[in-house]
Amino acid sequence: MTDMWINGKKTRGVAREDIPVLNPATEDALGHAPRGTGEDVNAAVEAAQAAFDEWRFMPAWERANLLHEVADKIHSHFDELAILLTKEEGKPLPENEEELDWTLNTFRYYAELGRHDRGRFIPPGDPGQINFVIKEPYGVVGCILPWNYPLLLMAWKVAPALAAGNTVVIKPSELTPLSTLRLAEIAFDHLPAGVVNVVTGYGPEVGEALVRHPDVRVIAFTGSVATGQRIASIAAPMMKKLHLELGGKDPMVIGPDMADEMDMAVRGLAYAALLNAGQVCTSTERVYVHESMYATFAEELAAFVSGLRLGNGLDEGVDIGPMIEERFRSKVERHIEDARQKGAQVLVGGGRATQFERGFFFEPTVLVHANHDMIIMREETFGPVIPLMPYRDFDEAIRLCNDTDLGLGASLMSRDARLVKRFFENVKAGTIWINDPLTDNYAGPFGGMKMTGGGRELGQEGFDEFCEVKHVHWDIEGGVKEYWYPY
Ligand code: NAD
Repeated sequence: MTDMWINGKKTRGVAREDIPVLNPATEDALGHAPRGTGEDVNAAVEAAQAAFDEWRFMPAWERANLLHEVADKIHSHFDELAILLTKEEGKPLPENEEELDWTLNTFRYYAELGRHDRGRFIPPGDPGQINFVIKEPYGVVGCILPWNYPLLLMAWKVAPALAAGNTVVIKPSELTPLSTLRLAEIAFDHLPAGVVNVVTGYGPEVGEALVRHPDVRVIAFTGSVATGQRIASIAAPMMKKLHLELGGKDPMVIGPDMADEMDMAVRGLAYAALLNAGQVCTSTERVYVHESMYATFAEELAAFVSGLRLGNGLDEGVDIGPMIEERFRSKVERHIEDARQKGAQVLVGGGRATQFERGFFFEPTVLVHANHDMIIMREETFGPVIPLMPYRDFDEAIRLCNDTDLGLGASLMSRDARLVKRFFENVKAGTIWINDPLTDNYAGPFGGMKMTGGGRELGQEGFDEFCEVKHVHWDIEGGVKEYWYPY
């Protein structure tokens, strides 16, 4: 059993039960985390509230040093954490090493941004006055996280929140709490007690208690649209600041010029759609291929995908690991079955991987003849499936990209600058990738439009989400004003 982390200490809190955590590649028990309660949330929020003044008024350089130390400690436990992440979440070890690189460098990036940025000085209305805008922390931030990138997504919230002077209570996913708890005890132990707290448990219990708590002024949430809507409905009467990073249904368009560079387009697409077994919020989930090359492209993609190796993420040479859980695998099956019934054809994969006795494996799948009547082109699938649909002209491709309620990312493979410009100007999505899908940038904002929620992580924007601004108008030299009473 791994304890929670509250007020700078490992604790079981008042939890009476445990949550078993499975290794999705073997279905064996990997460990247990406490099933936290509302009382544990209260204790964590109280600790975070008590730590707030010391943390917010700490000199920015000192806070920056402490955040760099978080990064150093993650670095010194790199291999251990990468292996634990692989066992807990399932994706191949190299992908978890990349996740950890991102995690620790996010702490470094925001350590420096927090040291540098406090607001701005603005022109006064009168020479004897001073006007400035202070960026202030909110107070206690609740960070509610999904399972697909447990540490990276934690860092994208916690690092900017702390750098801005907030304190935090983290609620990891019940499917992947162990890596967060381990990271807390090795990398947050030098921070003043209460600055970071981790409470494990289920969403409706611990997550909602955090959302309802009056002293939690901000909820930073990454997860599904349905949970985001639930959180928003609870938080609305309290006017809480919400930072929502919800689901995606990201398109990729293969430009007609890619007929000359089929290999690049095929491999770029396979990576974008199958990374982490398709369980990335920005996974490419629907693909539009110019009709002139559709059949050849589908054949080459199918040949490439059938050569990818599925297996336990700890084994060398494995490209794709298991899915996280049975219910996610069943959802992929339902989407494929619906597509089949409506006329789609499976070129590769299409079912559970039968070579494994255990583990939530699903074959990487390529579907052709997809269209927008199929669930697989409209709802988030979150699995290793690539549905292909032909388009006639670029206007149609853009229209199809925008035919969705979601707006996280969108990719284009093309070297035609005129198409590129039309694409980034007209597609409604928070990130546009040209020829290198799914590559993020510490300094570039990440987040979605439309029902994806509107929050932004990374970059200056990701810092500003955790700051309230205050305008100070200071009359230093003046006296009684002519515009005061009496008129
Ligand atoms: P989820 O919504 O089921 O759960 C996310 C978190 O919310 C978990 O910690 C869960 O315990 C908690 N939760 C559940 N019910 C709650 C409630 N009523 N109140 C408060 N908290 C509650 O999502 P998931 O299955 O863990 O993650 C997959 C989803 O996350 C996908 O939709 C994916 O697109 C999305 N996602 C989005 C981004 C992004 O940046 N936009 C990144 C990764 C994942």
